[in-house]
Amino acid sequence: MMRLDKYLADMGEGTRQEVKKYIRRGSVTVNGEQVRSPERKVDERDQVCLDGRKVSYAAEEYFMLNKPAGVVSATEDKRDRTVLDLIQYKKRKDLFPVGRLDKDTEGLLLITNDGALSHRLLSPRHHVDKTYYVEVQGHVTEETRAAFQRGVNIGTEEEPLVTMPARLEILEAGQSLSRVRLTIREGKFHQVKRMFLSQGMEVTYLKRESMGSLRLDDSLAPGEYRPLTEHEIKRLK
Ligand code: URA
Repeated sequence: MMRLDKYLADMGEGTRQEVKKYIRRGSVTVNGEQVRSPERKVDERDQVCLDGRKVSYAAEEYFMLNKPAGVVSATEDKRDRTVLDLIQYKKRKDLFPVGRLDKDTEGLLLITNDGALSHRLLSPRHHVDKTYYVEVQGHVTEETRAAFQRGVNIGTEEEPLVTMPARLEILEAGQSLSRVRLTIREGKFHQVKRMFLSQGMEVTYLKRESMGSLRLDDSLAPGEYRPLTEHEIKRLK
């Protein structure tokens, strides 16, 4: 149960002050009856209408964002724009990104308020595959592929941190620039960049293409997003 003004504000119908005005001027009905009191208690079973239009309750929201470079994977930041600043049409205020991409990384980021799903996708025990398109300075070889398959040390000599087997697909191996696709099952801090650094190569462009069953929609330009389909949500769970 919550106050009607809070309910409307939470569902994205306006600020608390704005929705109070709508209620007082008689634009809001609850189960067909006009209600002029913002304190009226409602829950998700009540049918709330604003100007005759049903305000649908969303317990959970799911968005696929093509994260552009230059924004941070956080809910709030003092200096930088965050991925949540990019999501304009949201009902819920408790959305967060599932995991993090570096500020300069692009690609698939799931934005939701479903904590249980987020936990499952990020838990090391569940080994969810993440696939990245990567451009690196340097010549990627069969040895790089074999090393990633075995696991490489992205820690230090004193404190080694060996990665789990990862799949490297070489798309184009130039002398000074190579393009590859890399699938990893972990999500250690700067993992992809550190894996290539362990082989003496620097990542110059990084984009996540998929996470588990979820694939980035090719029609989304960097900065664009869309809600997940019912089918995509079901497959993720
Ligand atoms: N690995 C990285 O190094 N950076 C990312 O943003 C994601 C994976």
